[in-house]
Amino acid sequence: MKRYRIKPGSKVDLSKWDPNEKALFEGDKEEGKKALLALNDRLETLQELLYAEHKHKVLVVLQAMDTGGKDGTIRHVFEGVNPQGVRVVSFKVPTQEELAHDYLWRVHKQTPGRGEIVIFNRSHYEDVLVVRVHELVPEEIWGKRYDQINAFERTLAEEGTTILKFFLHIDLEEQKERLQARLDEPNKRWKFSLGDLKERKLWPKYMQAYEDVLSKTSTKWAPWTIVPANRKWYRNLVVATTLIDTLEGLNMSYPQPEEGLDDVVIE
Ligand code: AMP
Ligand code: MG
Repeated sequence: MKRYRIKPGSKVDLSKWDPNEKALFEGDKEEGKKALLALNDRLETLQELLYAEHKHKVLVVLQAMDTGGKDGTIRHVFEGVNPQGVRVVSFKVPTQEELAHDYLWRVHKQTPGRGEIVIFNRSHYEDVLVVRVHELVPEEIWGKRYDQINAFERTLAEEGTTILKFFLHIDLEEQKERLQARLDEPNKRWKFSLGDLKERKLWPKYMQAYEDVLSKTSTKWAPWTIVPANRKWYRNLVVATTLIDTLEGLNMSYPQPEEGLDDVVIE
């Protein structure tokens, strides 16, 4: 999975990252879906351990263009995990109250506690993506945010949070197909927003903003993974495997039981 991880300090050119790539899995879609089932089981076990040990905190950040697959990734990768101990937070257009504070205020209070996995569906990165592309604040302000975000994430990491950030990478053609599917399928129409068409026109600007995010904020303590995401099944495999590898690296163990349990007789 290291091939998709951005080395700190390296310059990312997204045109060199193929969203159709599937180099790490030999099989086809059906086999890929089967492989995911085994990963779901493994993740369930690891999450239970994380919860029981009550030591580590895990933050998963998902960013993507519209239709990029954030919702689908959450649904498929976390299928079967115990909802107690996993929380999804979706960041929308900030409310008046949120706007009255600094941009990290609403984010910090949603970060995971011990034993918890929190999934950010969008995140503080919107404050250097949509905010930058639409000039919602001047460059003088957003330009400082990369360093601020690195410092913020470093604080979380030093205080015991494991941070994983995924950019689900699709291309313009794939987005067209997915938007069309939302129009065509009655059960998907609710997801279609005319606003998405406006954002689509700004694709090159978004790619530039994403390249800066990936180049400036992939750190040792909070690395970015670029996920080839045109194929949903492959995207799920990459995210699940990266997460599992990371959780396995935490060397977790179940808490020591109380002393003297061997002699207990329940009457
Ligand atoms: P969705 O994820 O489709 O429900 O849409 C959420 C919308 O909220 C997207 O259009 C985001 O760009 C927008 N959004 C999220 N965070 C911010 C932010 N900090 N400033 C402005 N818009 C945001
Ligand atoms: Mg949307």
